[in-house]
Amino acid sequence: MNVPFLDLKAQYACIKGEINEAIQRVLDSCAFSGGPFVEQFEKEWAAYCGVKHAVGVANGTEALWLALLALGVGAGDEVITVPNTFIATAEAITYAGATPVFVDIDENYYTMNPELLETAITPRTKAILPVHIFGQMADMDPIMEIARRHGLMVIEDACQAHGATYEGAKAGSIGHAGAFSFYPGKNLGAYGEAGAVTTNDDVLAGKVRTLRDHGQSKKYHHDVIGWNGRMDGIQGAVLSVKLKYLDEWCEKRRMRAVQYSELLHNVDGVVCPRERSQCRHVYHLYAVRTARRDQVIAQLSKQGIGTLVHYPVIVPDQRAYQCRKASPREAGISRDHAGRLISLPMYAEISEAQVTEVVSALAAALCS
Ligand SMILES: *Cc1c(COP(=O)(O)O)cnc(C)c1O
Repeated sequence: MNVPFLDLKAQYACIKGEINEAIQRVLDSCAFSGGPFVEQFEKEWAAYCGVKHAVGVANGTEALWLALLALGVGAGDEVITVPNTFIATAEAITYAGATPVFVDIDENYYTMNPELLETAITPRTKAILPVHIFGQMADMDPIMEIARRHGLMVIEDACQAHGATYEGAKAGSIGHAGAFSFYPGKNLGAYGEAGAVTTNDDVLAGKVRTLRDHGQSKKYHHDVIGWNGRMDGIQGAVLSVKLKYLDEWCEKRRMRAVQYSELLHNVDGVVCPRERSQCRHVYHLYAVRTARRDQVIAQLSKQGIGTLVHYPVIVPDQRAYQCRKASPREAGISRDHAGRLISLPMYAEISEAQVTEVVSALAAALCS
């Protein structure tokens, strides 16, 4: 049995009629850049996340960057984030003119360890950028409390956490701003590139709207130096269709994650992901740890089972960021995990039989 790492075709097959009609409506209206389909999705996404504003942008990297700019992060500032994230988190900080500073993660939940946060705060710290990695939210209560005490901004990297919750609050609704990616492989994926900034702050939302549209207040009147960061109409229309299914898809992912964890419980040498008691994990990725990763990947691949590693090299060890080589205190657990993590196939449409197959193959690989 073939088990791909991700199967976007299976999802499209389920919603093909609706998607094709939605795209046809955009074609008929020729509202290709921004416009009514993007505005409609922005309203729906804000309502879903439980925030006042969602501002559609071109991708998740840009959502992070524009949120940082709108919050006033710039040259000379430091932004605290985690080492175990996609490079985009750090790129956004760097492109805002600031310096990324790394604090290590919690060993069990893979998210920012709030107990280490204060050791990283300096007079130049401007913001904290926790990452809701793999679909589980960071420990937001202590992070927000520390931010308040030090007068810092909090931007949530929610690019992997559409629909995840922390004490009932949705990802993107707790910090001063949240940044989402709708890259096709994310839990809510566009049919191309797209992203959004969420916030309850009217002024901040206005700033992001201005920045994404060349800093203009009205056509050809530019108040600040902005950028072209608009979302495509087709992406807005596709996302509105898919948003109706997001909760159902999250539940299916959660069900498969439970199945994985139950079956893997009996397999020696594998550590399963854990869900924080106050969190709803949406399993963008189901990542386990094993010491014999290369062997597992090779064996599974031979049997037609797709896996990936998120991420093989932590950000401060990437060549692009080598000048900020992080100490074991800043990145010890993240670095150790980078050598052990393996992401197993996970998507709403994966079948019970496919999950069973993956676990059998994994168990066999570890015995051989
Ligand atoms: C996907 C992702 C991004 C970037 O989003 P793009 O839409 O690809 O630009 C940023 N941070 C994290 C954690 C991501 O997973």
